[in-house]
Amino acid sequence: MTLRIMQYGESILHKKGTSVDAFDKELSKLAEDMLLAMDQADGIGLAAQQIGQAIRFCVVDVPEHPEYPMTCILDGRLLSPSLLMPLALANPEVFPLPSDQYYYEEGCLSFPQIRGEVARPERISVNYQDLDGNAHQLECDGLLARCIQHEVDHLNGVLFIDRMEKKTFAEIKKEVKELKQRTIACLKEGKLPEISPREE
Ligand code: ZN
Repeated sequence: MTLRIMQYGESILHKKGTSVDAFDKELSKLAEDMLLAMDQADGIGLAAQQIGQAIRFCVVDVPEHPEYPMTCILDGRLLSPSLLMPLALANPEVFPLPSDQYYYEEGCLSFPQIRGEVARPERISVNYQDLDGNAHQLECDGLLARCIQHEVDHLNGVLFIDRMEKKTFAEIKKEVKELKQRTIACLKEGKLPEISPREE
């Protein structure tokens, strides 16, 4: 069964996640199902809140781009990002590393077709546990660092629109409001809000 991705207007997206403490088959299955749902929706990251569970767990699968190389140092060892992906992170904690903040146009699977620029640090360190509960430290930059920060925000109930500057948000405010109204109307009718078809 494919997991349904929660849409903006569903209250769980604002909920802080509780810690993951069982590293069992169920968690591995959840990671698999989340990666599948993310893939089908053409995403590069998905947080547990987005599939209706308020726990500190997310998955990412960030492709390498020849023009924008990424650096990954896992537990002190330089590693090719492609070897790390897809990556499931339980109980991640993000620490910005000394670097410039930069703007990048982000999207979110809970906000179909809505995008906006968000400023975030270029390099981060993230402490997390893998599916077996082993603790790791990952230092990364580029799109991977951006994606992890976006997902970890979700785990704290924080959305990318909360991070936008006022003038950026003003440009998409109408679409965001309409999306929320659509979602709430669906829920009222007892229907499940689905991602609207992709507009090309
Ligand atoms: Zn998102």
